[in-house]
Amino acid sequence: MTDVLNGSCACGQIQFTCRATPKGAAVCHCSQCRKMSGHAWASAHVPRTSFEMTGPVKWLRLSEQAERGICPDCGSFLFWVGVGHPDFISFALGSVDGPTGVALGRNIFVSEKADYYPLNDGLIQER
Ligand SMILES: [Zn+2]
Ligand SMILES: [Zn+2]
Repeated sequence: MTDVLNGSCACGQIQFTCRATPKGAAVCHCSQCRKMSGHAWASAHVPRTSFEMTGPVKWLRLSEQAERGICPDCGSFLFWVGVGHPDFISFALGSVDGPTGVALGRNIFVSEKADYYPLNDGLIQER
């Protein structure tokens, strides 16, 4: 099976192509993802070798754990790479153009969730 997903930032300067089946689809409720995206942030990961990106990605180090890739012009929060885990990249499911073929599996960093929305989707909740 050949899975090719294409995605982009809101202004279109950053484009990406993913040639592997995305894994670990999750919604992150941590405060950094919430502030970066304006809400919880949904992503999935693939091997870095199956992922290509073009455009002026700006990498932010907001925590010890990760670097986040954004578009410096439109501000889209697109990518997440764990420090010490450069072999994988997570990308925002909301930035995919067209169907993702992905189903969310987990809510993560639930302990940092904001109070204005319920979490009753039946998915696994972590921390
Ligand atoms: Zn952009
Ligand atoms: Zn997060």
